[in-house]
Amino acid sequence: MIIDDTIAAISTAIGEGGIGIVRMTGEDSLNILNKVFRSYKNKDTMNMKSYTLRYGHIVNPETDEIIDEVIVSYMKAPNTYTREDVVEINCHGGMVAVKRILATLLNNGARLAEPGEFTKRAFLNGRIDLSQAEAVIDLIRAKTDESMKIALEQTKGKLSTKIKHLMDKLLKMLAHIEAAVDFPEDDIEDVVSKSVINDGKEIVTEIEGLIKNAETGKLLREGLNTAIVGKPNVGKSSLLNALLEEARAIVTDIPGTTRDVIEEYINIKGIPVKIVDTAGIRKTEDLVEKIGVEKSKEYIDIADLIIFMLDGSRELDNEDKEIIKMLENKRVIVVINKSDLPMVIDMDYIKNNLINHPIIYTSVNTEEGVEQIEDKIVELFFKGDVTVKDVYITNVRHKDILTKALESINKGIETLSSGFPIDCASIDLKDAYLKLGEITGDTVADDIIDKIFTEFCIGK
Ligand code: GDP
Ligand code: ZN
Repeated sequence: MIIDDTIAAISTAIGEGGIGIVRMTGEDSLNILNKVFRSYKNKDTMNMKSYTLRYGHIVNPETDEIIDEVIVSYMKAPNTYTREDVVEINCHGGMVAVKRILATLLNNGARLAEPGEFTKRAFLNGRIDLSQAEAVIDLIRAKTDESMKIALEQTKGKLSTKIKHLMDKLLKMLAHIEAAVDFPEDDIEDVVSKSVINDGKEIVTEIEGLIKNAETGKLLREGLNTAIVGKPNVGKSSLLNALLEEARAIVTDIPGTTRDVIEEYINIKGIPVKIVDTAGIRKTEDLVEKIGVEKSKEYIDIADLIIFMLDGSRELDNEDKEIIKMLENKRVIVVINKSDLPMVIDMDYIKNNLINHPIIYTSVNTEEGVEQIEDKIVELFFKGDVTVKDVYITNVRHKDILTKALESINKGIETLSSGFPIDCASIDLKDAYLKLGEITGDTVADDIIDKIFTEFCIGK
Protein backbone atom coordinates (compact mmCIF):
# COMPACT_ATOMS: atom_id res chain seq x y z
CA MET A 1 0.00 0.00 0.00
CA ILE A 2 1.40 3.35 -1.02
CA ILE A 3 0.28 6.38 0.90
CA ASP A 4 0.75 9.55 -1.07
CA ASP A 5 -2.20 11.75 -0.34
CA THR A 6 -3.21 14.03 2.49
CA ILE A 7 -6.38 13.29 4.39
CA ALA A 8 -8.57 15.42 6.62
CA ALA A 9 -11.43 14.82 9.05
CA ILE A 10 -13.26 16.31 11.98
CA SER A 11 -11.72 14.65 15.03
CA THR A 12 -13.96 15.86 17.81
CA ALA A 13 -17.49 14.62 18.37
CA ILE A 14 -20.06 16.25 16.16
CA GLY A 15 -22.37 18.50 18.10
CA GLU A 16 -22.09 21.47 20.38
CA GLY A 17 -18.90 21.82 22.32
CA GLY A 18 -16.35 24.35 23.44
CA ILE A 19 -13.90 23.61 20.67
CA GLY A 20 -13.74 21.47 17.60
CA ILE A 21 -10.68 19.97 16.00
CA VAL A 22 -10.15 19.32 12.33
CA ARG A 23 -7.13 17.18 11.63
CA MET A 24 -4.98 16.58 8.56
CA THR A 25 -2.20 14.13 7.90
CA GLY A 26 0.07 13.60 4.91
CA GLU A 27 2.97 15.30 3.24
CA ASP A 28 0.85 18.12 1.85
CA SER A 29 -0.61 19.11 5.21
CA LEU A 30 1.43 22.24 5.79
CA ASN A 31 1.06 23.33 2.20
CA ILE A 32 -2.72 23.03 2.35
CA LEU A 33 -2.78 24.87 5.65
CA ASN A 34 -0.70 27.62 4.12
CA LYS A 35 -3.33 28.17 1.43
CA VAL A 36 -6.22 28.61 3.83
CA PHE A 37 -4.67 30.07 7.00
CA ARG A 38 -3.98 33.74 7.65
CA SER A 39 -1.94 34.34 10.75
CA TYR A 40 -1.79 37.33 12.95
CA LYS A 41 1.00 39.58 11.60
CA ASN A 42 0.92 37.54 8.36
CA LYS A 43 3.76 35.24 9.32
CA ASP A 44 4.71 32.68 6.69
CA THR A 45 2.97 29.44 7.56
CA MET A 46 5.51 27.39 5.61
CA ASN A 47 8.14 28.39 8.18
CA MET A 48 6.11 27.14 11.07
CA LYS A 49 8.19 25.09 13.52
CA SER A 50 7.22 21.57 14.47
CA TYR A 51 5.21 21.30 17.68
CA THR A 52 4.22 24.94 17.78
CA LEU A 53 0.89 26.72 17.72
CA ARG A 54 -0.27 29.75 15.77
CA TYR A 55 -3.29 31.95 16.11
CA GLY A 56 -5.17 33.28 13.09
CA HIS A 57 -8.09 32.70 10.76
CA ILE A 58 -9.13 30.08 8.28
CA VAL A 59 -10.30 31.80 5.12
CA ASN A 60 -11.68 30.85 1.77
CA PRO A 61 -8.58 31.61 -0.35
CA GLU A 62 -10.65 32.56 -3.39
CA THR A 63 -12.75 35.22 -1.69
CA ASP A 64 -10.70 35.90 1.46
CA GLU A 65 -13.91 35.42 3.43
CA ILE A 66 -13.13 34.51 7.05
CA ILE A 67 -14.48 31.13 8.06
CA ASP A 68 -13.41 30.90 11.69
CA GLU A 69 -10.96 32.12 14.25
CA VAL A 70 -8.55 29.30 15.02
CA ILE A 71 -5.37 28.05 16.63
CA VAL A 72 -3.39 25.71 14.43
CA SER A 73 -0.70 23.29 15.43
CA TYR A 74 1.87 21.62 13.24
CA MET A 75 3.65 18.36 14.01
CA LYS A 76 6.36 17.33 11.64
CA ALA A 77 6.96 13.71 10.66
CA PRO A 78 8.01 11.27 11.96
CA ASN A 79 7.24 11.93 15.62
CA THR A 80 3.48 12.11 15.17
CA TYR A 81 0.40 9.93 15.54
CA THR A 82 0.63 8.78 11.92
CA ARG A 83 4.38 9.23 11.43
CA GLU A 84 3.45 11.75 8.74
CA ASP A 85 3.14 15.52 8.98
CA VAL A 86 0.06 16.34 11.02
CA VAL A 87 -1.83 19.63 11.24
CA GLU A 88 -4.59 20.25 13.73
CA ILE A 89 -6.97 23.15 13.53
CA ASN A 90 -8.66 24.10 16.80
CA CYS A 91 -11.75 26.09 16.01
CA HIS A 92 -14.99 27.05 17.69
CA GLY A 93 -17.14 24.10 18.62
CA GLY A 94 -20.42 23.38 16.92
CA MET A 95 -21.38 21.78 13.67
CA VAL A 96 -20.97 24.73 11.34
CA ALA A 97 -17.41 25.82 12.03
CA VAL A 98 -15.84 22.38 11.86
CA LYS A 99 -17.79 21.41 8.75
CA ARG A 100 -16.89 24.58 6.89
CA ILE A 101 -13.23 24.26 7.79
CA LEU A 102 -13.21 20.67 6.66
CA ALA A 103 -14.86 21.66 3.38
CA THR A 104 -12.20 24.34 2.88
CA LEU A 105 -9.40 21.81 3.36
CA LEU A 106 -11.08 19.40 0.94
CA ASN A 107 -11.38 22.18 -1.65
CA ASN A 108 -7.68 22.86 -1.34
CA GLY A 109 -6.16 19.47 -1.85
CA ALA A 110 -7.05 17.21 1.05
CA ARG A 111 -9.15 14.08 0.72
CA LEU A 112 -11.82 13.13 3.25
CA ALA A 113 -10.42 10.49 5.60
CA GLU A 114 -12.11 7.14 5.84
CA PRO A 115 -13.10 5.80 9.25
CA GLY A 116 -9.99 4.91 11.23
CA GLU A 117 -7.66 6.09 8.48
CA PHE A 118 -5.42 8.12 10.78
CA THR A 119 -4.82 5.06 12.94
CA LYS A 120 -4.50 2.88 9.85
CA ARG A 121 -1.67 5.11 8.68
CA ALA A 122 0.01 4.78 12.05
CA PHE A 123 -0.15 1.04 11.45
CA LEU A 124 0.90 1.08 7.79
CA ASN A 125 3.77 3.42 8.60
CA GLY A 126 4.97 1.02 11.27
CA ARG A 127 4.42 3.09 14.37
CA ILE A 128 2.04 0.61 15.94
CA ASP A 129 1.09 -2.96 15.16
CA LEU A 130 -2.38 -4.22 14.37
CA SER A 131 -3.38 -5.25 17.87
CA GLN A 132 -2.33 -1.84 19.15
CA ALA A 133 -4.41 -0.17 16.47
CA GLU A 134 -7.39 -2.32 17.35
CA ALA A 135 -7.03 -1.30 20.97
CA VAL A 136 -7.44 2.33 19.97
CA ILE A 137 -11.11 1.63 19.15
CA ASP A 138 -11.52 -0.17 22.44
CA LEU A 139 -10.02 2.79 24.23
CA ILE A 140 -12.50 5.16 22.64
CA ARG A 141 -15.39 2.87 23.47
CA ALA A 142 -14.25 1.76 26.92
CA LYS A 143 -17.11 1.60 29.33
CA THR A 144 -15.44 1.47 32.73
CA ASP A 145 -12.04 2.36 34.14
CA GLU A 146 -11.05 -1.29 34.04
CA SER A 147 -11.98 -1.78 30.41
CA MET A 148 -10.11 1.38 29.61
CA LYS A 149 -6.99 0.24 31.45
CA ILE A 150 -6.94 -3.00 29.52
CA ALA A 151 -7.34 -1.19 26.23
CA LEU A 152 -4.61 1.23 27.21
CA GLU A 153 -2.21 -1.60 28.04
CA GLN A 154 -2.96 -3.09 24.64
CA THR A 155 -2.31 0.19 22.83
CA LYS A 156 1.04 0.26 24.60
CA GLY A 157 1.81 -3.13 23.11
CA LYS A 158 1.32 -5.49 26.04
CA LEU A 159 -0.46 -8.11 23.94
CA SER A 160 1.91 -7.69 21.00
CA THR A 161 4.92 -8.25 23.22
CA LYS A 162 3.45 -11.50 24.42
CA ILE A 163 2.54 -12.67 20.92
CA LYS A 164 5.94 -11.70 19.53
CA HIS A 165 7.60 -13.66 22.28
CA LEU A 166 5.61 -16.75 21.26
CA MET A 167 6.46 -16.19 17.61
CA ASP A 168 10.17 -15.92 18.43
CA LYS A 169 9.96 -19.17 20.29
CA LEU A 170 8.33 -20.87 17.31
CA LEU A 171 11.01 -19.53 15.00
CA LYS A 172 13.73 -20.96 17.22
CA MET A 173 12.03 -24.33 17.22
CA LEU A 174 11.82 -24.26 13.45
CA ALA A 175 15.51 -23.36 13.23
CA HIS A 176 16.44 -26.26 15.49
CA ILE A 177 14.48 -28.68 13.35
CA GLU A 178 16.14 -27.41 10.22
CA ALA A 179 19.60 -27.71 11.73
CA ALA A 180 18.93 -31.25 12.91
CA VAL A 181 17.75 -32.34 9.50
CA ASP A 182 20.98 -31.10 7.97
CA PHE A 183 23.00 -32.94 10.56
CA PRO A 184 24.08 -36.42 9.47
CA GLU A 185 23.93 -38.21 12.82
CA ASP A 186 20.68 -39.93 13.73
CA ASP A 187 20.51 -39.42 17.47
CA ILE A 188 20.56 -35.66 17.14
CA GLU A 189 17.03 -35.85 15.76
CA ASP A 190 15.82 -37.49 18.95
CA VAL A 191 17.36 -34.83 21.12
CA VAL A 192 15.93 -31.99 19.06
CA SER A 193 12.55 -33.66 18.83
CA LYS A 194 12.36 -33.85 22.62
CA SER A 195 13.35 -30.25 23.09
CA VAL A 196 10.90 -29.06 20.45
CA ILE A 197 8.11 -31.02 22.12
CA ASN A 198 8.99 -29.34 25.43
CA ASP A 199 9.05 -25.87 23.93
CA GLY A 200 5.79 -26.61 22.13
CA LYS A 201 4.11 -27.62 25.35
CA GLU A 202 5.25 -24.39 26.98
CA ILE A 203 3.70 -22.38 24.18
CA VAL A 204 0.50 -24.42 24.45
CA THR A 205 0.25 -23.57 28.13
CA GLU A 206 0.74 -19.89 27.43
CA ILE A 207 -1.84 -19.80 24.66
CA GLU A 208 -4.33 -21.75 26.74
CA GLY A 209 -3.88 -19.20 29.49
CA LEU A 210 -4.65 -16.38 27.07
CA ILE A 211 -7.75 -18.12 25.76
CA LYS A 212 -8.94 -18.76 29.28
CA ASN A 213 -8.77 -15.03 29.92
CA ALA A 214 -10.76 -14.26 26.83
CA GLU A 215 -14.19 -14.55 28.41
CA THR A 216 -13.24 -12.03 31.04
CA GLY A 217 -11.66 -9.83 28.42
CA LYS A 218 -14.73 -9.90 26.25
CA LEU A 219 -16.97 -9.02 29.17
CA LEU A 220 -14.79 -6.10 30.12
CA ARG A 221 -14.77 -4.86 26.56
CA GLU A 222 -18.35 -5.48 25.58
CA GLY A 223 -20.14 -5.61 28.88
CA LEU A 224 -22.14 -8.26 30.64
CA ASN A 225 -25.55 -8.76 29.06
CA THR A 226 -27.91 -8.84 31.94
CA ALA A 227 -31.65 -9.30 32.17
CA ILE A 228 -33.74 -8.85 35.27
CA VAL A 229 -36.71 -11.17 34.93
CA GLY A 230 -39.65 -12.03 37.10
CA LYS A 231 -43.36 -11.47 37.03
CA PRO A 232 -44.90 -8.06 37.67
CA ASN A 233 -44.60 -6.45 41.07
CA VAL A 234 -41.78 -8.54 42.48
CA GLY A 235 -39.48 -5.50 42.61
CA LYS A 236 -37.52 -5.46 39.35
CA SER A 237 -37.76 -1.71 38.81
CA SER A 238 -36.81 -1.09 42.37
CA LEU A 239 -33.74 -3.28 41.98
CA LEU A 240 -32.73 -1.60 38.78
CA ASN A 241 -33.02 1.79 40.40
CA ALA A 242 -31.01 0.64 43.38
CA LEU A 243 -28.28 -0.67 41.09
CA LEU A 244 -28.26 2.56 39.10
CA GLU A 245 -28.06 4.61 42.23
CA GLU A 246 -25.23 2.58 43.65
CA ALA A 247 -23.35 2.71 40.40
CA ARG A 248 -23.96 6.44 40.41
CA ALA A 249 -23.39 6.79 36.71
CA ILE A 250 -24.60 5.26 33.55
CA VAL A 251 -21.42 4.98 31.67
CA THR A 252 -22.46 5.37 28.08
CA ASP A 253 -25.46 5.67 25.86
CA ILE A 254 -24.67 3.99 22.61
CA PRO A 255 -27.46 3.91 20.06
CA GLY A 256 -27.80 0.38 18.86
CA THR A 257 -28.53 -0.93 15.41
CA THR A 258 -32.27 -0.50 15.60
CA ARG A 259 -33.33 3.01 16.23
CA ASP A 260 -35.15 2.43 19.47
CA VAL A 261 -32.64 0.25 21.18
CA ILE A 262 -30.55 1.91 23.79
CA GLU A 263 -27.91 -0.04 25.58
CA GLU A 264 -27.13 1.22 29.01
CA TYR A 265 -24.06 0.29 30.95
CA ILE A 266 -23.95 0.33 34.68
CA ASN A 267 -20.53 0.15 36.25
CA ILE A 268 -20.63 -2.59 38.86
CA LYS A 269 -17.25 -2.81 40.56
CA GLY A 270 -15.50 -2.20 37.28
CA ILE A 271 -17.62 -4.52 35.21
CA PRO A 272 -19.68 -2.83 32.53
CA VAL A 273 -23.08 -4.40 33.02
CA LYS A 274 -25.32 -3.91 30.05
CA ILE A 275 -29.02 -3.81 30.61
CA VAL A 276 -30.67 -4.10 27.26
CA ASP A 277 -33.84 -2.19 26.88
CA THR A 278 -35.90 -1.50 23.82
CA ALA A 279 -37.41 1.82 24.77
CA GLY A 280 -35.32 3.01 27.66
CA ILE A 281 -35.87 1.40 31.00
CA ARG A 282 -36.05 4.63 32.85
CA LYS A 283 -38.11 6.48 30.29
CA THR A 284 -41.19 4.31 30.37
CA GLU A 285 -41.27 3.05 33.94
CA ASP A 286 -39.74 -0.13 32.78
CA LEU A 287 -39.75 -2.61 30.03
CA VAL A 288 -38.87 -5.48 32.29
CA GLU A 289 -42.20 -5.04 33.93
CA LYS A 290 -44.26 -5.21 30.82
CA ILE A 291 -42.57 -8.12 29.18
CA GLY A 292 -44.41 -10.86 31.05
CA VAL A 293 -43.63 -14.48 30.66
CA GLU A 294 -43.48 -14.92 26.86
CA LYS A 295 -41.15 -11.99 26.36
CA SER A 296 -38.96 -13.07 29.24
CA LYS A 297 -37.89 -16.01 27.15
CA GLU A 298 -36.31 -13.79 24.51
CA TYR A 299 -34.31 -11.95 27.10
CA ILE A 300 -33.30 -15.12 28.84
CA ASP A 301 -31.95 -16.49 25.57
CA ILE A 302 -29.64 -13.58 24.85
CA ALA A 303 -28.45 -12.77 28.34
CA ASP A 304 -25.08 -13.78 29.84
CA LEU A 305 -26.62 -13.38 33.24
CA ILE A 306 -30.17 -13.52 34.49
CA ILE A 307 -31.23 -11.97 37.71
CA PHE A 308 -34.41 -13.89 38.49
CA MET A 309 -36.56 -12.13 41.00
CA LEU A 310 -39.29 -13.55 43.18
CA ASP A 311 -41.50 -11.98 45.80
CA GLY A 312 -40.83 -13.88 49.01
CA SER A 313 -44.04 -12.67 50.59
CA ARG A 314 -46.21 -14.41 48.01
CA GLU A 315 -46.87 -18.03 47.10
CA LEU A 316 -45.24 -19.31 43.96
CA ASP A 317 -47.68 -19.46 41.08
CA ASN A 318 -47.66 -20.97 37.60
CA GLU A 319 -46.12 -17.89 36.10
CA ASP A 320 -43.10 -18.18 38.41
CA LYS A 321 -42.81 -21.86 37.67
CA GLU A 322 -42.90 -21.27 33.92
CA ILE A 323 -40.03 -18.82 34.17
CA ILE A 324 -38.10 -21.28 36.36
CA LYS A 325 -38.35 -23.86 33.58
CA MET A 326 -36.72 -21.46 31.14
CA LEU A 327 -33.68 -20.98 33.33
CA GLU A 328 -32.12 -24.35 32.82
CA ASN A 329 -28.49 -24.16 31.67
CA LYS A 330 -28.30 -20.43 32.19
CA ARG A 331 -26.24 -18.38 34.59
CA VAL A 332 -28.74 -17.20 37.14
CA ILE A 333 -28.75 -15.29 40.37
CA VAL A 334 -31.98 -16.01 42.22
CA VAL A 335 -33.19 -13.04 44.20
CA ILE A 336 -35.91 -13.52 46.81
CA ASN A 337 -37.16 -10.01 47.41
CA LYS A 338 -39.29 -8.38 50.07
CA SER A 339 -37.53 -10.15 52.89
CA ASP A 340 -38.84 -7.43 55.18
CA LEU A 341 -42.29 -9.03 54.88
CA PRO A 342 -43.32 -12.43 56.28
CA MET A 343 -41.90 -15.15 54.13
CA VAL A 344 -44.44 -17.50 52.56
CA ILE A 345 -42.67 -18.61 49.39
CA ASP A 346 -41.92 -22.33 48.98
CA MET A 347 -38.14 -22.33 49.24
CA ASP A 348 -37.91 -26.10 48.90
CA TYR A 349 -39.47 -25.92 45.46
CA ILE A 350 -37.01 -23.19 44.47
CA LYS A 351 -33.98 -25.01 45.80
CA ASN A 352 -35.02 -28.23 44.06
CA ASN A 353 -35.75 -26.60 40.73
CA LEU A 354 -32.97 -24.05 40.57
CA ILE A 355 -30.19 -26.32 41.63
CA ASN A 356 -26.71 -24.80 41.90
CA HIS A 357 -27.83 -21.24 41.39
CA PRO A 358 -26.93 -18.78 44.12
CA ILE A 359 -29.87 -17.44 46.10
CA ILE A 360 -29.82 -13.99 47.64
CA TYR A 361 -32.44 -12.54 49.96
CA THR A 362 -33.13 -8.86 49.52
CA SER A 363 -35.33 -6.10 50.65
CA VAL A 364 -34.76 -3.77 47.79
CA ASN A 365 -36.89 -1.08 49.33
CA THR A 366 -34.31 -0.68 52.05
CA GLU A 367 -31.46 -1.62 49.68
CA GLU A 368 -30.68 -4.63 51.80
CA GLY A 369 -28.91 -7.33 49.84
CA VAL A 370 -28.26 -5.21 46.76
CA GLU A 371 -24.55 -5.11 47.44
CA GLN A 372 -24.57 -8.90 47.75
CA ILE A 373 -25.99 -9.14 44.24
CA GLU A 374 -23.13 -7.02 42.98
CA ASP A 375 -20.58 -9.14 44.80
CA LYS A 376 -22.13 -12.26 43.32
CA ILE A 377 -21.86 -10.87 39.79
CA VAL A 378 -18.18 -10.23 40.30
CA GLU A 379 -17.69 -13.66 41.82
CA LEU A 380 -19.51 -15.46 39.01
CA PHE A 381 -17.65 -13.82 36.17
CA PHE A 382 -14.30 -12.95 37.59
CA LYS A 383 -12.42 -15.45 39.54
CA GLY A 384 -10.23 -13.31 41.67
CA ASP A 385 -9.68 -9.63 41.14
CA VAL A 386 -10.31 -7.60 38.10
CA THR A 387 -6.79 -6.41 37.54
CA VAL A 388 -4.80 -5.54 34.51
CA LYS A 389 -1.72 -7.43 35.56
CA ASP A 390 -2.49 -10.11 33.02
CA VAL A 391 -2.74 -9.84 29.30
CA TYR A 392 -6.41 -9.97 28.38
CA ILE A 393 -7.75 -11.17 25.09
CA THR A 394 -10.68 -8.86 24.52
CA ASN A 395 -11.16 -9.37 20.84
CA VAL A 396 -12.96 -12.26 19.14
CA ARG A 397 -10.61 -12.07 16.19
CA HIS A 398 -7.63 -12.61 18.46
CA LYS A 399 -9.30 -15.47 20.24
CA ASP A 400 -10.06 -17.29 16.97
CA ILE A 401 -6.48 -16.88 15.84
CA LEU A 402 -5.12 -18.23 19.12
CA THR A 403 -7.44 -21.22 18.96
CA LYS A 404 -6.21 -22.08 15.48
CA ALA A 405 -2.56 -21.56 16.38
CA LEU A 406 -3.08 -23.87 19.34
CA GLU A 407 -4.46 -26.60 17.06
CA SER A 408 -1.45 -26.37 14.78
CA ILE A 409 1.05 -26.57 17.60
CA ASN A 410 -0.74 -29.54 19.15
CA LYS A 411 -0.66 -31.26 15.77
CA GLY A 412 3.06 -30.61 15.53
CA ILE A 413 3.65 -32.04 18.99
CA GLU A 414 1.65 -35.12 18.09
CA THR A 415 3.65 -35.63 14.92
CA LEU A 416 6.88 -35.52 16.88
CA SER A 417 5.59 -37.71 19.68
CA SER A 418 4.53 -40.42 17.26
CA GLY A 419 8.04 -40.67 15.91
CA PHE A 420 7.63 -39.15 12.46
CA PRO A 421 10.71 -37.49 10.96
CA ILE A 422 11.08 -34.19 12.75
CA ASP A 423 10.74 -31.99 9.70
CA CYS A 424 7.14 -33.24 9.36
CA ALA A 425 6.30 -31.00 12.31
CA SER A 426 7.70 -27.93 10.58
CA ILE A 427 4.56 -27.32 8.52
CA ASP A 428 2.36 -27.15 11.60
CA LEU A 429 4.73 -24.94 13.50
CA LYS A 430 5.00 -22.61 10.52
CA ASP A 431 1.22 -22.47 10.34
CA ALA A 432 1.08 -21.51 13.99
CA TYR A 433 3.69 -18.83 13.41
CA LEU A 434 1.77 -17.31 10.50
CA LYS A 435 -1.49 -17.41 12.44
CA LEU A 436 -0.02 -15.53 15.40
CA GLY A 437 1.32 -12.93 13.01
CA GLU A 438 -2.25 -12.06 12.13
CA ILE A 439 -2.68 -10.62 15.60
CA THR A 440 0.26 -8.28 15.27
CA GLY A 441 -0.47 -7.66 11.61
CA ASP A 442 2.84 -9.09 10.38
CA THR A 443 1.16 -11.75 8.28
CA VAL A 444 -2.34 -10.46 7.79
CA ALA A 445 -4.18 -9.98 4.49
CA ASP A 446 -5.12 -6.49 3.28
CA ASP A 447 -8.86 -7.12 3.26
CA ILE A 448 -8.80 -8.05 6.93
CA ILE A 449 -6.91 -4.86 7.69
CA ASP A 450 -9.49 -2.83 5.78
CA LYS A 451 -12.31 -4.50 7.64
CA ILE A 452 -10.75 -3.78 11.02
CA PHE A 453 -10.36 -0.09 10.34
CA THR A 454 -13.87 0.42 9.02
CA GLU A 455 -15.09 -0.23 12.56
CA PHE A 456 -13.44 2.98 13.67
CA CYS A 457 -15.08 6.33 13.78
CA ILE A 458 -14.12 8.99 11.29
CA GLY A 459 -11.36 11.29 12.47
CA LYS A 460 -9.43 8.68 14.44
P1 GDP B 1 -41.71 -4.73 39.23
O1 GDP B 1 -43.10 -4.71 38.71
O2 GDP B 1 -41.19 -6.12 39.33
O3 GDP B 1 -40.81 -3.81 38.51
O4 GDP B 1 -41.80 -4.22 40.77
P2 GDP B 1 -41.56 -2.76 41.34
O5 GDP B 1 -40.14 -2.48 41.53
O6 GDP B 1 -42.34 -1.77 40.55
O7 GDP B 1 -42.19 -2.95 42.78
C1 GDP B 1 -43.53 -3.31 42.99
C2 GDP B 1 -43.96 -2.88 44.37
O8 GDP B 1 -43.25 -3.63 45.37
C3 GDP B 1 -43.68 -1.44 44.66
O9 GDP B 1 -44.74 -0.90 45.38
C4 GDP B 1 -42.43 -1.47 45.53
O10 GDP B 1 -42.33 -0.38 46.40
C5 GDP B 1 -42.61 -2.76 46.28
N1 GDP B 1 -41.35 -3.35 46.69
C6 GDP B 1 -40.22 -3.53 45.95
N2 GDP B 1 -39.25 -4.08 46.70
C7 GDP B 1 -39.76 -4.27 47.93
C8 GDP B 1 -39.25 -4.82 49.15
O11 GDP B 1 -38.11 -5.26 49.25
N3 GDP B 1 -40.08 -4.87 50.21
C9 GDP B 1 -41.35 -4.40 50.14
N4 GDP B 1 -42.11 -4.47 51.25
N5 GDP B 1 -41.88 -3.86 49.04
C10 GDP B 1 -41.10 -3.80 47.93
ZN1 ZN C 1 -41.51 -2.13 37.48
